[in-house]
Amino acid sequence: MNVSPRLRRISPSLTLEITSRAKALQKAGVDIINFAAGEPDFETPEHIKAAARSAIDRGKTHYTPAKGMPELIEAVREKFKRDNGLEYSAGQIIISCGAKHSLYNAFQAICREGDEVIIPSPYWVTYPEQVRLSGAEPVFLETAEEVGFRIDRERLKSLITPHTRALIISSPCNPTGCGYPREDLEYIADLALKEDFILISDEIYEKLTYDNFQVISIASLSREIQERTIVINGVSKSYAMTGWRIGYLAAPEEVAKAISSFQSHSTSNPATPSQFAALAALQGDQSCVEEMRKTFEERRDLMMDRLSGITGLACQRPVGTFYVFPNISFLNKSSREITAELLNEAKIAVVPGIAFGRDTNIRMSFAASAESLGKGLDRFEEYARRR
Ligand code: PMP
Ligand code: GLU
Repeated sequence: MNVSPRLRRISPSLTLEITSRAKALQKAGVDIINFAAGEPDFETPEHIKAAARSAIDRGKTHYTPAKGMPELIEAVREKFKRDNGLEYSAGQIIISCGAKHSLYNAFQAICREGDEVIIPSPYWVTYPEQVRLSGAEPVFLETAEEVGFRIDRERLKSLITPHTRALIISSPCNPTGCGYPREDLEYIADLALKEDFILISDEIYEKLTYDNFQVISIASLSREIQERTIVINGVSKSYAMTGWRIGYLAAPEEVAKAISSFQSHSTSNPATPSQFAALAALQGDQSCVEEMRKTFEERRDLMMDRLSGITGLACQRPVGTFYVFPNISFLNKSSREITAELLNEAKIAVVPGIAFGRDTNIRMSFAASAESLGKGLDRFEEYARRR
């Protein structure tokens, strides 16, 4: 049976693939230290789990409206007001099966055949594939490591054509951990107005920031910008809820309406008990978020401290996410080769930078215990010394 040309172009998610390979090796008894994890290693907080259990016990196990239950939409509206200073009507919010699904819906809703979507590179592995699935073409905006992967304004301008439909903003960024300062967001916002393109702002790592880095939602810069921005967020990273599959977006009402219809014919509502869990996460005590953030910050410090001791290796200091993205070009090999050697010889799992469009780097996640990170860094240091 022939696979459609549309799907033939798509490669599997390398991040998910490597994580499951590392987990399988661990299960088979191989002592692998996993720096590939793309999710918090913490348990979902107890009060969130309890809300889902209670929902099941109360018989909340049937369909909800396709775009999510009204109580959760209300809680998301509150969250946008509280955290981002953004006012949305209920008709502008859609709850989906994870932020990945929200992004997919957004591209399907706005992209036309032949459109171009600008993606700052390094980029999260899923963006280009979802853009292609929508019929549009990804256009990569290379950013320089030495300037913290910030957007080069001239380069951005040079990529704009009559086909430019949207620009993706991912701040803090997976895989680099870097974030955009306000002045960059203001520049991008002005350009979007002048050149008439849409902004897709992926804010999934909003709560995991360090050194007092403040995430500013680009949509909050002005009413006009809000009207041309689709904000993507979810509970996966902030509340250690990756497996529950709840994400959400906020968009202009017409776009949200189209996405609601689309979702009603594709997935219907996200799992009902998961929606109750997300409701408890957004409305409950937020101290669990700060506790996890603090632990991540300590681990980020540990990673940076140890990596700075490796001769030849350069690494930007992340202001958010749970990733570092060291430059390993001193090893004179491709990121895939290094990843394979690290797995087979040093017994540590990392993600090759090529998955994110940058072959000179590897991504190392610090979503693991300090003890395990320390042990893995010993192995990494030993590997780098032998080269
Ligand atoms: N955006 C980015 C940048 C991510 O790293 C992830 C994590 N996979 C997502 C979106 C999707 O998150 P989820 O679908 O688990 O909510
Ligand atoms: N965001 C995670 C990562 O980049 C999860 C994996 C995925 O969804 O592709 O590793």
